[in-house]
Amino acid sequence: MADKIRVLLTEEEVDTKINEIAAKISEDYAGKQIHLICILKGGVFFTCELAKRLTVPVSMDFMSVSSYGAGTESSGVVKIIKDLDEPLEGKDVLIVEDIIDSGRTLSYLIEVLKQRKPNSVHLCTLLDKPERRVKKQVHVDYTCFTIPDEFVVGYGLDFDQKYRNLPYIGVVELG
Ligand code: 5GP
Repeated sequence: MADKIRVLLTEEEVDTKINEIAAKISEDYAGKQIHLICILKGGVFFTCELAKRLTVPVSMDFMSVSSYGAGTESSGVVKIIKDLDEPLEGKDVLIVEDIIDSGRTLSYLIEVLKQRKPNSVHLCTLLDKPERRVKKQVHVDYTCFTIPDEFVVGYGLDFDQKYRNLPYIGVVELG
């Protein structure tokens, strides 16, 4: 039987917000080139939509990580599955994430990337669940939506590898 999905953020709401965030980022990075780092797989839809709307020069790279932990908790032990293709030295890096939950993944990743001597590192996320934050030091520069502590899917986010392709953000209603 198909799962029931409750819509949390419509396609139109997400679209409008990405336009706003892209305009803000373009303004903040005026005169610079942004090196976008897409965190696979969840960040791929948001990264593409954001990149299309930026009005400053953009280069892109992709990284895949996994955080092992019990159940739905990430452990903070982050394994790099696919590393970046390009060096970061001297670049203005903008990490693009689907969602920040405990912040463990990003806390680790930011430290790893900073060691590669970029000119700057900033963080942009489609969704933020601040109630769940364990790593309070993770500073998010650009957040599209702050959401309650619910497990969401769509716009790149999966449940058991399903629902990434939904054009909206929804909550899987189990049972
Ligand atoms: P953190 O290290 O911040 O706890 O974990 C972030 C990662 O956990 C995200 O990149 C995402 O892969 C996964 N995650 C956290 N919350 C959700 C959620 O509500 N839905 C989905 N599909 N993945 C989530």
